[in-house]
Amino acid sequence: MTAGALIELQANLKALNLSSMTRNLEGSLRQARESGIGYDEFLIELTTAELQARAENSLNRRVREAKFPLLKPLETFDLAAVPDLDIRLFRDLAGGGYIREHRNVIFLGRSGAGKTHMATALGIEACKNNFRTRFTSCYGLVNELIEARQERALQRLVQRYVRYDLLILDELGYIPFSKEGSELLFQVLAERHEKGSVMITTNLGFADWTQVFGDHAMTAALLDRLTHKAHIVSCNWDSYRLKQSLKEKGKQGRTPHANNGL
Ligand code: ADP
Ligand code: MG
Repeated sequence: MTAGALIELQANLKALNLSSMTRNLEGSLRQARESGIGYDEFLIELTTAELQARAENSLNRRVREAKFPLLKPLETFDLAAVPDLDIRLFRDLAGGGYIREHRNVIFLGRSGAGKTHMATALGIEACKNNFRTRFTSCYGLVNELIEARQERALQRLVQRYVRYDLLILDELGYIPFSKEGSELLFQVLAERHEKGSVMITTNLGFADWTQVFGDHAMTAALLDRLTHKAHIVSCNWDSYRLKQSLKEKGKQGRTPHANNGL
């Protein structure tokens, strides 16, 4: 191929927004000449690479937009450590069917059980399935809503939170909300109802949610919407961290020269 033809072809690919093909063209042409592959195989290779690059870019963008506090993918979650988890349900959730059906998921259990880790891992899976995902703490969302109201930008923010396919609200229950905060959170959840999925992690049994929201009637209305067709995953096992540190201690105790502080 002449230098002129290469430049023209690169310009065409660029105009067609085929950026990976534009970048790879010269190298791929050289490789094709060396290995003697046909036009068909050459085009397949070039277009496959473009598709892969696009998928990767879109996954990276989804993950960035989701704002996970820590990137803990599914592979880092040790299923053997949580024998009481319904693994079939967990695998189903990783497939993202609940998002297509606009169902909610509530992880309920004590601190350290792995709720945030599971929600993060499932959030990353949702990004892989190309769902618009957002992770935030309940407290962070409420503060953001209160600030937006002060700046007269509440409706815009609520609409943004309504548009996500999956909204992950971490740590409901650690900090109670003001009346205004409860009402704003209620507004977001009510507007999302049956339009998109919400995933909540909480250490509170449903009976105690009134403590967080303050108002009985509003809590009842909220629970009614959230739990309707929801997957409720109780995580009533011991803290993973606690188990790990007990294991570590056990190991130290068995080492003949361990200094166990006695
Ligand atoms: P919770 O949100 O329920 O309080 P976390 O998800 O924060 O618990 O888990 C506490 C710590 O233990 C985190 O560092 C998390 O990555 C780790 N962890 C919990 N369960 C597992 C697990 N099954 N496999 C690997 N790490 C786990
Ligand atoms: Mg947590």
